[in-house]
Amino acid sequence: MIHWKWWNMKDKTIYLDNNATTAVAPEVVEAMLPFFTDSYGNPSSMHNFGGRVHRELEKAREKVAQLLSCEPYEIIFTSCGTESANFALRGIMEAYPEKRHIITTKVEHPCIKNQIPWFDERGVRVTELRVDRKGRLDLDELSAAITKNTLLISCMYANNETGVIFPVDRIASMARERGVYFHTDAVQAVGKIKISLKDLPVDLLSFSGHKLHAPKGVGVLYVRRGTKIRPFIIGGHQERNLRGGTENVPYIIGLGKACELAAEHLFDENNQVKKLRDKLEKGILASIPNTEVNGHTEDRLPNTTNIGIHFVEGEALLLALSKENICASTGSACASGSLQPSHVLRAMGIPFTSIHGSLRLSLSRYNTESEIDQVLEILPGIVDKLRAISPFKNLEDVTHFGTE
Ligand code: PLP
Repeated sequence: MIHWKWWNMKDKTIYLDNNATTAVAPEVVEAMLPFFTDSYGNPSSMHNFGGRVHRELEKAREKVAQLLSCEPYEIIFTSCGTESANFALRGIMEAYPEKRHIITTKVEHPCIKNQIPWFDERGVRVTELRVDRKGRLDLDELSAAITKNTLLISCMYANNETGVIFPVDRIASMARERGVYFHTDAVQAVGKIKISLKDLPVDLLSFSGHKLHAPKGVGVLYVRRGTKIRPFIIGGHQERNLRGGTENVPYIIGLGKACELAAEHLFDENNQVKKLRDKLEKGILASIPNTEVNGHTEDRLPNTTNIGIHFVEGEALLLALSKENICASTGSACASGSLQPSHVLRAMGIPFTSIHGSLRLSLSRYNTESEIDQVLEILPGIVDKLRAISPFKNLEDVTHFGTE
């Protein structure tokens, strides 16, 4: 077992930002280390030294495939979730240039949303489906949006900000019936809920290592056997000629280990994480007035809660929590920094008073009950202090902001 600085720091830090990134599991680090030192061969080399690495790489592919109940052949390693999502959308569009329409949603991660101008420039029409106040899609609206020209539907499996899970099984079946490809950004879902691609007619699925206790810098695009797709990174013959570039062997080995651990512990861990999340959420709602959960509370990832805390400023809240060594998030990690209110919460029609004070708390198997108790002890005092200095004391003060 490895003991190094991070684990010591973890004693002090209460990390509730696991949808932004997760700690690399010690077992994963352990599995990776020999591939930096002894087994550094190129998996494409002809010699045995490289051949041994190639065999380990293929074992990692099998572990990923086992977690998703698919064939190892269908797993393509990439550098991250963003690359996988770009590969999926552009790769399929370039394989079928005659089709000029794709459908997605208003609440996608920037890895999908920020591709829209690229499609606009090429004359590809993009329909962005709306969500309701709970963050859910209207499947009738989806059905009505599909035309003869529609090539692809891309809908996230679970939302990174609210944890809301989309009815991917029904969307995938609809896509299949109407002859449309279906991609799902499953970055927040893989490792947190059971996904069986044997039973789910998804054509393309993206995910990322660093959300399930593997390192940052490794991802996967699942491509169902028989799906025609053009490569996104063009180079050597690696990954069935679909993704050029020498494979990031240590990270892929780490991802394989993380998937093996996720498959072993999915049920127990998620039950335990859900219990802690529910305790945290109930405790906050009970102890702090003018708070509400953003998003559906049933169709939701077991580790995530997004709580609207009216009349406080999210950034001020995060800084105050950070002083207490509590890590949380307001909106997604990629949106913070811009200080723009979250596009997800705006699409849900959440009032600005609540969006600005939205707090995303996302747990992992490394959180403990005592950490949850500490947050419940500290948070109400912080909110009281911030509200005392807030110019907004009630809803009437802020009606001029409106909502989108
Ligand atoms: N999709 C979703 C839903 C995410 O939450 C993220 C990361 O936060 C990504 C895609 C991007 O993944 P990566 O950081 O591996 O590029």
